[in-house]
Amino acid sequence: MSAAAIVLSPSATPSTYHRIVSPTLQIPSDPQFSIPVGLLACQRDPLLRELLTTVVSCQVSQTHPAPSGRKGKKDTASTASRTLTLEIILHDTTVFPEGGGQPSDTGLIQTADERFCKVLQARRHGGHAVHYVQVEDAEVDILQFTVGTKVLVKLGDADWDRRCDHMTMHTSQHLLSAVLEDRLNIQTLSWSLTEAPAPCYVELSRSMTSDEIQSIQTTANRYVFEGRNVRVEVQEMEKPKEPEKLEDHARGFAKAIPADYTGGIMRVVVIDRIDRNPCCGTHWPSLHNLQLFLVPQTESLARSNTTSARLYFFAGPRLIEYLTNTHKQLTATASTLSCGAPQVPARVEQVIDERKRAEKRIDDLESELAKCIARDVAKEMGQSSDLVFSKHVHRVDDSINPLGFLSAIATAFTGVARAESQYLLILSSTPSAQSVTGTSVSLILGSDEKQVKEAGGLLKGAQCERGRERSQMEWKVDRCLENGTRGCGYLGYPSSHPRS
Ligand SMILES: [Zn+2]
Repeated sequence: MSAAAIVLSPSATPSTYHRIVSPTLQIPSDPQFSIPVGLLACQRDPLLRELLTTVVSCQVSQTHPAPSGRKGKKDTASTASRTLTLEIILHDTTVFPEGGGQPSDTGLIQTADERFCKVLQARRHGGHAVHYVQVEDAEVDILQFTVGTKVLVKLGDADWDRRCDHMTMHTSQHLLSAVLEDRLNIQTLSWSLTEAPAPCYVELSRSMTSDEIQSIQTTANRYVFEGRNVRVEVQEMEKPKEPEKLEDHARGFAKAIPADYTGGIMRVVVIDRIDRNPCCGTHWPSLHNLQLFLVPQTESLARSNTTSARLYFFAGPRLIEYLTNTHKQLTATASTLSCGAPQVPARVEQVIDERKRAEKRIDDLESELAKCIARDVAKEMGQSSDLVFSKHVHRVDDSINPLGFLSAIATAFTGVARAESQYLLILSSTPSAQSVTGTSVSLILGSDEKQVKEAGGLLKGAQCERGRERSQMEWKVDRCLENGTRGCGYLGYPSSHPRS
């Protein structure tokens, strides 16, 4: 802890958490200068929530970051007129600037006149943490941040909850990546600390079997149960440790340092006997703080020349929220199915089976009914003395495929009609008045294709007169039905307008 920083509330971070492994590295104590990112209070002492410190610089910001820590946008005129954002560098801070895949903290700065200003986010500029602070009155408030002024920087309750979630998911990612590499030799290509309550994920070089996922989850939970300690080792970047002195668990040492980082600090996060990983993020001092670990699912990602997979994971408060929501959904489903939660899988299986059998029965009954209607029409045609028998059969039907049923009638009719019969049939179907959505269909069936097309044209014209757009109508010659020695054509007319 810097000599210039006064801890107002005691922190529970163990004194062994932050280790300076270089004999020449010292934390800058002159309050005129800012402590570089890599040695900040939030990184040395992740459980510290508030800190008395000094303003090193303050300027009006040209950007207006979003409160959640998402990337800032240029000021809009309306936003700029209401508030002003200051870019403030402090000697030290408890507000973590985004980095290492971990989003920025949010926080508060209490000024000498005892007002709190919101820290919308902090970002690393080169080697320094810049706080984006929202103020209401530019002329008055900017005086509170004169260089050399003492301020209190703190994480409020909501800021602290956000930080705890980020620490939980970040430390979990280190643990998960280490276990995946150690047990299955699977490399972590990248990871995403998503916004709660969504699961975070690691992107892996290959997908995993369910047995592999189960074994990784079991191993990770064993380490959480053991409560392996987590510590941070820092040294100057100019004098990196000799490679042979590094333990076997070191991963991705060089690639983790951003090219624009100028703080000069090499920081390694160590999970006792499991992992060493260069990282600037904030981490819990013990795996006990993760509470429980869950790997719920994997998702394969097909790329042009490689196949990778996403492995989603939950831990800590995010996992508890996930389990709570999942349990609520299961209980609600059980209530809908009138059974207990443990019976839900069997009940769902039973419902699906019953539905399949019901659909089969409907198919059989529709087929029987179609034949019945076809026989009645054929009988009527046989008793008719018209040269060309014509008939319109209309049905009210809420089926999702009314054309299928009309086609079944048409097929059955051509099967029972005499080969020499001359006929023109119009079969139509509309949804019932109770149906919210539905399809109206007209199907024309005839012994003379020319007559069928003429009737189709007249029907289409009639629909246009009723206000329907020509482009909304689709006419199809679905197929020719063989009826004895002559071909029978029919045209289907599907419409998206219900109750026409
Ligand atoms: Zn990390």
